Amino acid sequence: TGPRNINLSNIDELAMIHFPPCMKKLYQSLKSNHHLKHYGRLQFGLYLKGLGFPLEESLQFWRKMFAEKVTAEKFSKNYEYNIKHSYGRLGKMADYSPWTCNKITRMPKPALGEFHGCPFRHSEKGELINILMSYQKLENEIKEWILGRHEKEPQLACIKLFESTHPGADYKFTEKIGIYPNAYFDASYEYSKS
Ligand code: SF4
Repeated sequence: TGPRNINLSNIDELAMIHFPPCMKKLYQSLKSNHHLKHYGRLQFGLYLKGLGFPLEESLQFWRKMFAEKVTAEKFSKNYEYNIKHSYGRLGKMADYSPWTCNKITRMPKPALGEFHGCPFRHSEKGELINILMSYQKLENEIKEWILGRHEKEPQLACIKLFESTHPGADYKFTEKIGIYPNAYFDASYEYSKS
C-alpha cells in the first residue's frame, strides 16, 4: 500500500489533482451513477486499497457512494463480500494487488455502462478529449500527440501527460508511471509537496 495521504474527506479534492485518467473516469462515473459494474469496482477498489485505504474505510466509501441506489441491507448482501475478499479477508484469503497498467490496457473494451479500462486505449476520442481537459496544465503539443496516436501507445501517453503537467518532476517519482496507476497518484502527490 502507498503512503497514507488520502482519506474519505479529501478524496474528492485529491482525485481532481492527482488521479490518472483511468481512475478519474471511474471516480466520476461512480459519483454520477452511484454505481459501478464488476470490473470497474475491482479496478477502482484495488486502486483505493493501493492508496492505503484500510478495509473499513473502503467499505464506508462504497456504501456511501452507492447509497442513493442501494440500501444498506442490499449493500451488505451483494457487495461487501467482494470488497472484503479483495482485502484477503474471506475466501482463499489471497491478498489482491492493484491492477497494473498492463492488465488494464489489455482489458476487453468496456461495454455500454461500463467504465473500467484505460482511456488512452478504450475511450472514444471525444471522451478522451474531455478527460484531458481536466488536466489544466497539459500543453497543447502533448495533447495533440496523445490524440494523434490514439489507442496505440497508452502507457507512453500517460507518461507524457504526467511530464507535461508536472514539469521538472524527479525521475525517482516518475519511473513507475505507465506501470501502476497508483504510481501516478504517488508521483503527483509528491510533486505537489516539493
Ligand atoms: Fe491508467 Fe495506466 Fe492507462 Fe495511465 S496508462 S490511464 S495509469 S491504465
